[in-house]
Amino acid sequence: MSAAATGEGAGSASGVRSGSARVAIVGAGPSGLFAAQALLARCSDPGLVIDVYDRLPTPYGLLRYGVAPDHTAIKRVAETLAKVFENRAVRFVGMVELGRDVTRAQLRDSYDAVVYALGASGDAHLGVPGEDLVGCLSAREFVAWYDGHPDAAPVVLSGVSSAMVIGVGNVAVDVARVLAKPVEALEETDIPNPVLGSLRKGEIEEVWVVGRRGPAQTAFTPVELRELVNLDGVAVTLEGVGPDELEPVEGADRRTQQVLQALRDAAAREVTDPRVRLRFLFWHRVWSVAGHGQVERVRLERTRPDGAHLAGTEQWRDVEVQLLLRAIGYRGQPLPGLPFDPVGGVMPNVEGRMTDEHGAAQPGEYVVGWIKRGATGVIGTNKSDAAETVAHLVSDLSSRSSSEVEAGRPLEPADLPDLLAAQGKPVADFAAWLRIDAAERAEGQSRGRIRTKIATWQRLTDLVVDGEQHP
Ligand code: NAP
Repeated sequence: MSAAATGEGAGSASGVRSGSARVAIVGAGPSGLFAAQALLARCSDPGLVIDVYDRLPTPYGLLRYGVAPDHTAIKRVAETLAKVFENRAVRFVGMVELGRDVTRAQLRDSYDAVVYALGASGDAHLGVPGEDLVGCLSAREFVAWYDGHPDAAPVVLSGVSSAMVIGVGNVAVDVARVLAKPVEALEETDIPNPVLGSLRKGEIEEVWVVGRRGPAQTAFTPVELRELVNLDGVAVTLEGVGPDELEPVEGADRRTQQVLQALRDAAAREVTDPRVRLRFLFWHRVWSVAGHGQVERVRLERTRPDGAHLAGTEQWRDVEVQLLLRAIGYRGQPLPGLPFDPVGGVMPNVEGRMTDEHGAAQPGEYVVGWIKRGATGVIGTNKSDAAETVAHLVSDLSSRSSSEVEAGRPLEPADLPDLLAAQGKPVADFAAWLRIDAAERAEGQSRGRIRTKIATWQRLTDLVVDGEQHP
């Protein structure tokens, strides 16, 4: 019987019983690892076990597969989070998917607490005709491709001279920047080689960024926007907006004022012989997408404010584009057998304590990150978010009596990672990730780069299973 069940010892500042806590975290992205970090900080107990599951053989989630390759400073947060795995209490259990390889019931039986850190793996749709044409994809799919996600479909950029991004948030900024940036400036990043090859073949001349509302209602952050509009060889135009809309707005917050300033500065800058034209178009929404099997044209409708809502004006504008990216928000996805709020795209919870759809508590189950609060905030937001959830988790564990703990799960809970390995399921432990890491670094360094992402399941799995790569 584990010390958890005996309730022996006190050994932690937080009051969690010595050896008491076995915690599963499902999702090894920033929110899951911030949760592990918070747990370690609150519980110095030598018996603590934290198993961090992920469907991928690689940890770091959005840091690896969502943050743009040229945002190296943000990506370095992974180096801090890697320290979590230096603690013997923490195991990485990669290539194990909830719903496919393990069930919710297994997790509940094997651990005192389960923290779901599932992120937001879906995205919002425009709901317009033609949205399913080839060349019309979500920013999430485009980001997954350039970030080397093994599930990503290749994106063909040859023949694309005009691309349009719908949405005026930071994801829109990321994808517009990758499209507008000189390829040479991306060569030093960890972008997979086939992606670089495709970007090199690109012939992008103009990138549209379309907002359904005005510049004062954008969701950009000033630093990210300035980085985009100040790219070398990029000329910026602002369309659909009256000059007074760019003036400082009385009572607006600092972010909005700085965004307006950045747009004013960008529009005023002369760029001779621009390589790419970056065309912001405000007060327009997508009406339809047209083309013969492939995106050729987008029909936009001019909008106007109507109280707190938007109204159409029946003024149309057709723009020829060969690539349409919708950057209108990520959404959490439901998992079979787990509660889900389809409106918010989150798992229902109260400050991270999971509930069912009717608000009934689900003791021992918690949520963190985007699946808890929706797809908002920067990477660092997940730290305080995880701290809130973990504070409740630790408090709940501390207040559970040993008999409750025993009733909650079998006296000899299965060691799930061992059980999976015994069943012949290939599991990527942290050593396997380090092999992938080393292979990526070696591949990058052979081409004068720090790292080149390995982007296929085959090569990743080979490195997990036997450490060898088969050509
Ligand atoms: P976001 O900030 O919520 O922006 C979504 C944009 O899509 C908004 O401009 C929204 O306009 C628009 N939109 C929504 N539905 C639309 C529709 N049907 N038609 C047209 N436009 C529509 O979301 P995000 O850009 O996906 O970013 C998610 C989070 O990640 C944000 O917190 C962001 O700051 C963060 N992030 C940060 C970085 C960074 O720091 N470098 C990079 C990427 C993402 P309305 O306001 O009119 O709804």
